[in-house]
Amino acid sequence: MLNYNKSMIWNMTRNCNFQCSYCYFPHKNEKITNPITFESLLNFLNKNDDVWLVGMTGGEPFIYPNFVSLCEQLTKKHFIGVDTNLSLSKEIKAFAEKISPSRVNDIYASLHIEEREKRNAVQNFIDNYHTLADAGFTIKVNYVLHPTMEARYPKDVAFFKDNGIPITPRPFKGIYNNLKYPQNYSSEIKNIFADHPTAGTKMVFNFRGVDCKSGQTFIRMEPDGTIFRCPGDRTVLGNIHENVNLYACATPCNVNRCPCQGINYVKLNPAEGWFIEGMRLFLTGAEKNAANAFRQTLLYDSEHSSALNNIGVFAYENKNYAHAKRLFEQAHNFHPQVPLFKQNLEIVKNTLEGDKQLSIHPEISEIVRPSVVNYEYSVTPEQSTE
Ligand code: SF4
Ligand code: SF4
Repeated sequence: MLNYNKSMIWNMTRNCNFQCSYCYFPHKNEKITNPITFESLLNFLNKNDDVWLVGMTGGEPFIYPNFVSLCEQLTKKHFIGVDTNLSLSKEIKAFAEKISPSRVNDIYASLHIEEREKRNAVQNFIDNYHTLADAGFTIKVNYVLHPTMEARYPKDVAFFKDNGIPITPRPFKGIYNNLKYPQNYSSEIKNIFADHPTAGTKMVFNFRGVDCKSGQTFIRMEPDGTIFRCPGDRTVLGNIHENVNLYACATPCNVNRCPCQGINYVKLNPAEGWFIEGMRLFLTGAEKNAANAFRQTLLYDSEHSSALNNIGVFAYENKNYAHAKRLFEQAHNFHPQVPLFKQNLEIVKNTLEGDKQLSIHPEISEIVRPSVVNYEYSVTPEQSTE
């Protein structure tokens, strides 16, 4: 257990030596010309007695100038984590030699298998993995189960297992073929996630209105030193080169999408705790248990329209259309400002009227506190690789 009291996600650079087609941001394969100085970073982190976990991400952190020296400086007092494509052998070897695994939280290595095959760099990945693993680091190899990768996933898992590398499937969060993921994975894919229970919490929740400690104990830093409240809420709290004012306490989330680790920082009431558990179970293929968790939500908050809606979606899938209609009606009546509930109600009405042309299905709601959603809520079709 690493002993830190604050954490930061540092988006070090937009540059990357890979060019994955599905990357959420167009990364340039260029040198980084204006890195943050060690001095200004350490001045900020060492100001108080705080011990930080600095999660370094990008782009590709290992292309950062003097990256290994930077890690050496940081790990004297703080802890680090790294998100990497694990491609730069020379730098990875130096990292393995100079940095103590006891100061490093997990190293997350994304597989990006198609990009790697294109570059003939699969063996390079395997070698770099073992360089770090042999030195005592914990490496989590993530495989984003984009819908286009579903077919080849089992073969890839078997191949890397034969090479001593366990794979962790990560849900794709975004829109593909007009369907929202991870909600719309097939039951086969959900069964894959069943062996990885935390995968079920890796979805984009809407925590609007829920108190969250981001901005207080969790922040995001941009390449130029600007501090945002978190990856999802870009409220500027300052810049490490000038002044940074962190929040004194947890404050309500103000955005519709939490693409980050908000689940670790929000203060949920019992109804919301059960709701999150229901979503986790749903995404790992345990639909009956998910329905029970949503019913528990309703025991604590009978007007939790997202729980009503989601039980309605299960009823619809089980062809219990009349029951689904009642549930969507209740959800819509409690919170008519949420278009999703109205949309689901229209779908089930059309189904009951025998409209065979209908190809859309009711959607699960990920709104954790629907009572505060007092605006036209809609999901932005953004893509994410994580
Ligand atoms: S997905 Fe990762 S490895 Fe691929 S281009 Fe984007 S940052 Fe680089
Ligand atoms: S819930 Fe997520 S998006 Fe909202 S403030 Fe917390 S970390 Fe940020």
